[in-house]
Amino acid sequence: MDNKYLQTKSHPLLNLNHPILVKMKKKELSAKDKKLKIRLEKGIQDQDPPLYSRWRRLNRLLPSDPRCTTCMVPFEGPGGKLFEVVFNQKRSTLNPLMCNKCEEIGRRLDFGAEAEMSMLFADIRGSTPLAESMSPIEFKELIHRFYNETTHVLVHSYAIIDKLIGDEVTGYFIPTFVGGKDYAQRAVKAAQDILQVTGHANPEGPWAPVGVGVHTGTAYFGSVSSSDGLVELTALGDAVNTASRLASQAAAGEVVLSESTVRKADLETTNMERRTLELKGKSEPMNVWVLQVGNIIAAKELE
Ligand SMILES: [Zn+2]
Repeated sequence: MDNKYLQTKSHPLLNLNHPILVKMKKKELSAKDKKLKIRLEKGIQDQDPPLYSRWRRLNRLLPSDPRCTTCMVPFEGPGGKLFEVVFNQKRSTLNPLMCNKCEEIGRRLDFGAEAEMSMLFADIRGSTPLAESMSPIEFKELIHRFYNETTHVLVHSYAIIDKLIGDEVTGYFIPTFVGGKDYAQRAVKAAQDILQVTGHANPEGPWAPVGVGVHTGTAYFGSVSSSDGLVELTALGDAVNTASRLASQAAAGEVVLSESTVRKADLETTNMERRTLELKGKSEPMNVWVLQVGNIIAAKELE
């Protein structure tokens, strides 16, 4: 710091109303918010279904999609109207995947914690040649339909949906939000459902060629705000990168599961193909299991 400012007490930061200081003061949480932040972070780490997952389950029953991918409050239909009129809870103007309340809490509390979770990445295979084979409007419609159908599956499997990028969707299955210890099974079921809704089981073939990867491991999950004010609830860490790499190795109509996913979901592997993959950025080859759309594995019944 330049000494002359200290001597004259005219340094801009000595002004208590300076925008930077005001912003710093704002970051100081109230006692109530501090408690809420601790509860949220503990909730993410907690493996037991807390109150929050029951609240999500309840909201999921209200009509209708689309809904907040965090709290599952509906944006449309009678349920959407109810929340908008009674609680002023509606789609955030910054992040269309989230409601204004979840967005506000994410921004205000800046919360996050490490947790074990299953991570699902689904992407359209060969989207570049696909885009070349159709008009831009047709391609936009295909992507739109892909987002709609896959986010519907993910929301209804209690996943948290991360941002939708290009030709890819991402869902995180976190015990707290999923509501129990069967998060890996739910992720595998959702992966198979995504292949079904994109038409991979149809005799005439899929309307969008999709490959899915599911990995289970520990990642950091929390709110991340960008400079333009957008809040994302996202997961970070090596395990997330691994999940993404698995998806990139899945051919159309395939689900690539990591060993940890198969173990955690307690899957029967007799119908699955075993492969060893060299993943980008990984020193050791990784053993994986591959599910084709036809061989729906018998997982424990999920409600
Ligand atoms: Zn919400």
